[in-house]
Amino acid sequence: MSYYAGIDIGSTAIKIVIIDENEEIVGKKVSGSGSMFYKYAKESLEQLVTDIGIERDDIAYIVATGYGRKLFKEADETISEITANAIGAKKAGEKFGKVRTIINIGGQDSKAISLDENGNVVNFAMNDRCAAGTGKFLDVAAAKLEIDVEELGEYHFKANGTPLSINSTCAVFAESEIIGLLGNEHSKEDIVAGIHFSIAKRIIRLTKKVGLNDIIYFDGGPALNAGLVAAIEDELGRELAIPSYPQITTALGAALMGTWVST
Ligand code: ADP
Repeated sequence: MSYYAGIDIGSTAIKIVIIDENEEIVGKKVSGSGSMFYKYAKESLEQLVTDIGIERDDIAYIVATGYGRKLFKEADETISEITANAIGAKKAGEKFGKVRTIINIGGQDSKAISLDENGNVVNFAMNDRCAAGTGKFLDVAAAKLEIDVEELGEYHFKANGTPLSINSTCAVFAESEIIGLLGNEHSKEDIVAGIHFSIAKRIIRLTKKVGLNDIIYFDGGPALNAGLVAAIEDELGRELAIPSYPQITTALGAALMGTWVST
């Protein structure tokens, strides 16, 4: 049996997916990118190979994607995040129907991609200014509120009243805005909901630039945050399609690419 690895070296996290010849996922791993992401990516791949009980040589092809892809010399090929995201979304989203719009929020950028009937990329828009509406924005906010990013969803659903309006687009300015809101005795729950709604509004504006066609699929690490998902759905007035493992779908797309180009 041959295996195929996709590695998404993002600004915040390294995601690895290993699939078999039948395109089934046999291993997946998420680890921090840190400052030496090339080294960590190599170590993570070796660790995953060991964990799933295969040999490095059993991997027939490695495709790297993401921000740090060019530095990963072990890769047989590299592809852009947009292409890998589209391929991954088509596969991970097939249980919902044909994905036509992708919303991806990453560590330091957010993207909207529109796809045609066959899953080909038609258009995309990206926002990477000031970490506005990204995982970094959520990480900074959570740290200031002294909660874990994993807890943001829980806080969101405990908010009462109208969510606060967070006006800062830069993570740095948002931090001082949050300090001000805490100083005015607003609850952490209401602040968290305000942050989610402000990100939701921003990502919907970005997505409108490429067209909001059904099925709207949402992935990237922040898609694990149920509060953010609910805020985007509330603002859209529609349900989002969220894959089972939203943080690894771009890596899955890269792995799938490997099965096509290596044969
Ligand atoms: P990148 O590809 O740019 O490295 P990711 O798609 O991996 O980014 O997303 C990283 C972000 O996902 C983190 O900054 C964090 O805010 C968010 N995240 C990761 N895991 C969780 C979780 N369990 N709950 C909520 N948010 C999460």
